Amino acid sequence: MDYRKQFFVSPGEKLKLAAIDPAHTAGHSSSEDALPEIQKHVARMAESQALLYADGQQSLLVVLQALDAAGKDGVVRHLFTGMNPQGTSVFGFKQPSAEEAAHDFLWRAHQRTPAKGEIVVFNRSHYEDVLVVRVHQLVAKSVWSGRYELIRDFEKMLVANGTRIVKFFLHISPEEQLLRFKQRLDDPARNWKISEGDYSEREFWSAYVEAYEEALSKTSSKDAPWYVIPANHKWFRNLAISQIIADTMGEMGLKLPPTRVDLKEITAKYHAAEAAQEKRAGKAPKPPSKK
Ligand code: ATP
Ligand code: MG
Repeated sequence: MDYRKQFFVSPGEKLKLAAIDPAHTAGHSSSEDALPEIQKHVARMAESQALLYADGQQSLLVVLQALDAAGKDGVVRHLFTGMNPQGTSVFGFKQPSAEEAAHDFLWRAHQRTPAKGEIVVFNRSHYEDVLVVRVHQLVAKSVWSGRYELIRDFEKMLVANGTRIVKFFLHISPEEQLLRFKQRLDDPARNWKISEGDYSEREFWSAYVEAYEEALSKTSSKDAPWYVIPANHKWFRNLAISQIIADTMGEMGLKLPPTRVDLKEITAKYHAAEAAQEKRAGKAPKPPSKK
């Protein structure tokens, strides 16, 4: 199953989230059943990341968006663990600080985009400025509705500069969200995750759905695709996302960079250094071979 094809949001086409089953599992029956495949994709991601870093020519930006408790943190924890922390980072976008709010809405996002060789995961992103901001009418409609084009242009510019972009919307049902809120209440180890905001935002579910539908279809493109990931089952969410990231990176043409030195010359230097080292250590130089 090619999840990139299955879950891709067609640019410009009207998206109906209600038509996508959040409990979909593509025929997999359980977490145990999916685990070997997830591990395979996670290993491919890690291999590609090592090449991306060594090559230093391109970068990857992963955008995670979702309603509360849909599992953005779980994606980070499960799928990016295999990666070298040198060259990989995660940034969570909260309510803008006074300084951020005093700039254009893309300012803070641009500061966090990956440099060449790096992977950056946006846990929430510049899309909040057409989502929460729209739902709570934090700016006028004329302002947020002009942002889709600004976002498309911003992402186009990043792509032109060597950044690959993949964007995921984690799609859960309201019932599943409530179940997860309950788990947070019942499990002392998860109590810290509860916020009042989660409950108040839930009241705006349909407004968020509308905002997501428009944002995703207006900003999905071949170069900066959106994928709607059925996320009621955490293991299926991990399976689909890991496959999509591994496949995307597999297409980036990543390879080890050519050696920057003359290997013969360096080998001779190495032998000279080795001989000098042995001499310093007081070892007799190796006798010439008797052949
Ligand atoms: P969790 O899912 O674990 O609760 P979170 O991403 O929701 O994590 P929080 O600190 O709970 O993290 O929430 C961050 C809040 O900041 C969200 O409610 C989000 O909508 C809000 N936020 C992010 N960007 C903006 C923005 N540009 N304008 C207004 N609010 C924003
Ligand atoms: Mg939250």
